[in-house]
Amino acid sequence: MATIFTKIMNKEIPAAIVYEDEHCFAFRDINPQAPVHILLIPRKEIPTMNDVTPEDAKILGHLMVKAPEIAKKEGIADKGYRLVFNTNAHAGQTVSHIHLHIIGGRSMSWPPG
Ligand code: 5GP
Repeated sequence: MATIFTKIMNKEIPAAIVYEDEHCFAFRDINPQAPVHILLIPRKEIPTMNDVTPEDAKILGHLMVKAPEIAKKEGIADKGYRLVFNTNAHAGQTVSHIHLHIIGGRSMSWPPG
């Protein structure tokens, strides 16, 4: 089912777009948790990581190629950054369209809260 992220991809809702191509779309998180906080999403509407199938391998691989490219462009690659797919309630997923958080620009702790 379409979410707010589809409206952002379709440019019905404004967002600070960082990158887009035929398979994926990246924009700045409206509530950033670090100096750089970008959401990288596939154009395909996949609700959660639990819904990923083998036919999605190429698109997921594409996200993993693009994430470090974006991190390098944002100047956070050398010091380090975090890539996170929150999945369902325990992880705090709030939008049912998988999104890779690219978070960086500050030191982070582990384990996550
Ligand atoms: P989740 O908690 O599902 O892993 O992450 C969803 C993220 O989407 C949150 O970090 C939240 O701030 C962001 N978000 C929710 N609605 C919007 C919106 O309308 N625009 C943008 N740019 N980010 C949003």
